[in-house]
Amino acid sequence: MADNRYDAIVVGARCAGSPTAMLLARRGHKVLVVDRATFPSDTVSTHLLHPPGVASLRRWGLLERLTATGCPPIGTYAFDFGPFTISGAPGTDDTPVAYGPRRTVLDKLLVDAAAEAGAEVREGFTVTEVVVSDGRVTGVRGHGRDGGTVTEQARVVVGADGRHSSVARAVGPEQYHEKPPLLCGYYSYWSGLPMGGRFETWVRPDRAFAAWPTHDDLTLVIGGWPYAELEANRDDIEGNFLAMLELAPAFAERLRAATREERFVGTAVPNHFRRPYGPGWALVGDAGYRLLAGVPRPSGRG
Ligand SMILES: Cc1cc2nc3c(=O)[nH]c(=O)nc-3n(C[C@H](O)[C@H](O)[C@H](O)COP(=O)(O)OP(=O)(O)OC[C@H]3O[C@@H](n4cnc5c(N)ncnc54)[C@H](O)[C@@H]3O)c2cc1C
Repeated sequence: MADNRYDAIVVGARCAGSPTAMLLARRGHKVLVVDRATFPSDTVSTHLLHPPGVASLRRWGLLERLTATGCPPIGTYAFDFGPFTISGAPGTDDTPVAYGPRRTVLDKLLVDAAAEAGAEVREGFTVTEVVVSDGRVTGVRGHGRDGGTVTEQARVVVGADGRHSSVARAVGPEQYHEKPPLLCGYYSYWSGLPMGGRFETWVRPDRAFAAWPTHDDLTLVIGGWPYAELEANRDDIEGNFLAMLELAPAFAERLRAATREERFVGTAVPNHFRRPYGPGWALVGDAGYRLLAGVPRPSGRG
């Protein structure tokens, strides 16, 4: 292993990969982190950062950078189940609030922190192959946007390459607690929908939706229905989305007075855990496990 160029190569530089690269580099390891994306850029995901996530940013010395971006704090969570609502502060004395930072902002902040820690960051670099020698992962092969293929070696390759992880595909880890997609979720952003520092969610039979504030005075609203309804509803996402909100009439009224600023984005993902380590490799973030909860079924329907 003496001629390995890196201690670790991290594939994927978003919220799992960049902190992994940053923490390894801070401990003095020689780290390469690559991503086929360039930053800042968005990804298909909403972005509520619960207080434990905020606590991580604080521990890493990055929280002030996030608050400096003007991201509004969220001091109250409210769960409206129809007949009753549970609400309260989500955090602890140390980390009292949540945030809803756009991934364009959060991921860029994390990539920059990895670079500052000494990790070599290669954006626009696609890994096409995981190199295996004598049953052990020894590196990756890939190319930058100029197309030239290069091979890089490391003692450990970390797959932080999301739910379609090519590192996981290459190493074939044991997969367990598998569940098919249970929910399809859609979201967009509205202006003129102030949340007053609240994350609000509404839970109804076969439907659930939530709203919280993010950057630029926008509010994210996400909602969804059972995966079984994907086909039936896919030709009119907006109509079905707005009909769903009528299950909470006061919120529907608030949304009618607001302006949608972006297109609807949606997805449905399967759920699984994967054994996250093996000879010369590890998986972090969605590459290792992926859970997106279903919506509640009316009682008696399982
Ligand atoms: C609709 C939806 C809503 C969600 N809402 C929330 C939420 O509110 N709060 C929350 O905490 N989580 C939420 N999640 C989950 C969250 O999106 C993921 O857990 C998180 O993005 C995982 O981060 P990651 O870094 O593991 O992977 P990703 O964010 O998927 O990043 C993987 C990176 O790897 C790169 N990559 C992949 N393959 C290669 C390759 N071959 N070569 C080079 N680079 C590669 C990609 O370009 C990408 O940048 C949501 C997910 C969905 C789908």
